[in-house]
Amino acid sequence: MTTDACAYNKVDEAILESLRRIVGETHVLVGSPDDLEPYSHDEVADRSYGHMPECVVKPGSAQEIAQIMKLACAHRIAVTPRGAGSGLSGGAVPLLGGIVILFDRMNRIVDYDRENMTITCEPGVITNEINRDIREDGLFFAGYPMSYEACMIGGNVAENAGGARAIKYGVTGRYVTGMECVTPRGEILTLGGKLAKDVAGYNLLQLVIGSEGTLCIFTKITLRLLPLPRVQIDMIAPFDSVESAIATVPKIMISTGIIPASIEFMDKLSVETSCKYLGETIPGFGAEAVLLISLDGTDDEKVMGECEVIGEHCLTAGATDIFIADNPRKSETLWKVRRNIVEAFKAVSPQQSCEDIVVPIAQIPAMVGGLKKLAEKYDLMIPCYGHAADGNLHATPVMNPAWTPGEWHEKLKELLMEIYGLTISLGGTISGEHGIGHKRKEHLAMFSDPVYLELIKAIKKAFDPFNILNPGKIVDL
Ligand SMILES: Cc1cc2nc3c(=O)[nH]c(=O)nc-3n(C[C@H](O)[C@H](O)[C@H](O)COP(=O)(O)OP(=O)(O)OC[C@H]3O[C@@H](n4cnc5c(N)ncnc54)[C@H](O)[C@@H]3O)c2cc1C
Repeated sequence: MTTDACAYNKVDEAILESLRRIVGETHVLVGSPDDLEPYSHDEVADRSYGHMPECVVKPGSAQEIAQIMKLACAHRIAVTPRGAGSGLSGGAVPLLGGIVILFDRMNRIVDYDRENMTITCEPGVITNEINRDIREDGLFFAGYPMSYEACMIGGNVAENAGGARAIKYGVTGRYVTGMECVTPRGEILTLGGKLAKDVAGYNLLQLVIGSEGTLCIFTKITLRLLPLPRVQIDMIAPFDSVESAIATVPKIMISTGIIPASIEFMDKLSVETSCKYLGETIPGFGAEAVLLISLDGTDDEKVMGECEVIGEHCLTAGATDIFIADNPRKSETLWKVRRNIVEAFKAVSPQQSCEDIVVPIAQIPAMVGGLKKLAEKYDLMIPCYGHAADGNLHATPVMNPAWTPGEWHEKLKELLMEIYGLTISLGGTISGEHGIGHKRKEHLAMFSDPVYLELIKAIKKAFDPFNILNPGKIVDL
C-alpha cells in the first residue's frame, strides 16, 4: 500500500468512456486546465497545496458511486470526494490526480421525519439549507460552521465540523445518527439509522465521521434535530486588551453557571480586516479585542436576564462596554463580520496560514500570550480569532511584507514548530475542526501516540486495501 504517484494509473480514454456510461456523458468533466482548476484546491490560501484532477464526475446516486469505486479499484485510480471545497486543510485536493467526485446532483433532502426529529440528506445539501424549511415546525439542526452558506453536509460530516455553537450544542458528529455510504471497494454500506441510542457492536458510524473522505463516501446522512430555541440574543463585549478579553472566556461559564450558545473571540486586526472587507462596522470596532456572545432559549425574559448576568460579568472582568444587538439585522451584521474573517485575510494576502489549534479552555490565555510573544520574536502579525469557549483558536500568521515568499516559507516552518510546541505543552492539539488533510499531515505525528498512528493506518488498510480513496491525506502509508 502506497501513496507513491507511480502506483496509480492515469485516467485514459477507456476509463473516461466507462465513467460516461456510469454517470452519463454530460456529468464527466475533462478538458482544459482552466475547466479543472476550480477542483484543484480548497480554501487554503497558499495555492502550493493544490493539485489538478484528471477528471471530475457528478454521480446521481449511491449505485453510480459504487460503480465508480469498483472501476477505480480494478484500475488503481485515485478518487477524491469533494463537497463545496470550503475546507481549510487541503482535504478535497486530488493530491494524486485521478477522479474527483462532486455531489452537486446529490443535493436533496430525502426524508424529513418530524415525529422522530430526524432529517436525512444527500451529501450535497448546503448546510444552511437544512434549517430553511424545518424552522416553521419549531425544529433545527444545531451545526453552525462559519462557512454554512457554502459548505455541504457531506463535507461537514467528513470533517466533523465544529463552529460557533459547539460550546453548547457540540460538533456535527453528535447529530449524525445514521448514514448510507460507499466503501472504497464499491460496497454500499448502511450504518445506524434514526435511533437516539445504538451500541450494537463497534461504532463504525462515529469512526467514519471526521475521516476526511479517506474511509468511505457518504451518500445519505441522517441527522438528529432539536427543538428550535425561539429566542436568540447576541452581544458584543469590547476589551482594552487581548489578555483581559481572552482571560474572561473560561470564567464566564464557571462564574455565571450559564452556557452561552456561542462565545467567539476576535482581536482588533480580525475585526478591522473583516469590517473593511465587507464595508461594515460593528460596535466595539477599534477595541483591542471583542467577545461576541450569543444566548438562546425559549423565554425572552429568561434569555435577556442571562444576557444581563453575562454582561455584568464581562464589565467586572474589564469589558469597556456591552452592546446588545436589538434587532435581527444588527445580529446578522455581527455574525457576518465574524463569518467573513477567513475570506477577509485571504483577500489581504495569500501568504498566510490559518491555524486551528485547540487547547483546554483554561489554557487559552496562556496560548494567546504565547502567540503574542512569537509574533514579536518573528516580526510578523499573528491575528487571532475563533471559537474561544471551545479553546479553539484560528491564529493566522501573515507574512511580513518586507520578506520574499522564500523567506516567508522558511520562517513559517520554524514558527509553526514553535506554535505547535506551545500547543502541546498546554495539553492541546493541532486541529479542533478543520482537520489534517495534507496541510497538517507532516505535523500530526508530533501530537500523536505512535500506537494511534499504527492503528489508524491499519483501519485505513481494512477499508481501502488499494489506498485509492483520497490517498495522501491524514497519514502517509
Ligand atoms: C470562511 C470559512 C469559514 C469556516 N468556518 C468553519 C467553522 O466554523 N467550523 C469548521 O469546522 N470549519 C469551518 N470552515 C472549514 C470548512 O468549511 C469545513 O471543513 C466544511 O465542513 C467543509 O465542507 P465542504 O463541503 O466545503 O467540504 P470540502 O472542503 O469539499 O471537503 C472536505 C473534506 O470532506 C471530504 N468529503 C466531502 N464530501 C464527502 C462525502 N460525501 N463523503 C466523504 N467525504 C467527503 C473531502 O474529501 C475532504 O476531505 C470554514 C471555511 C471557510 C472558508
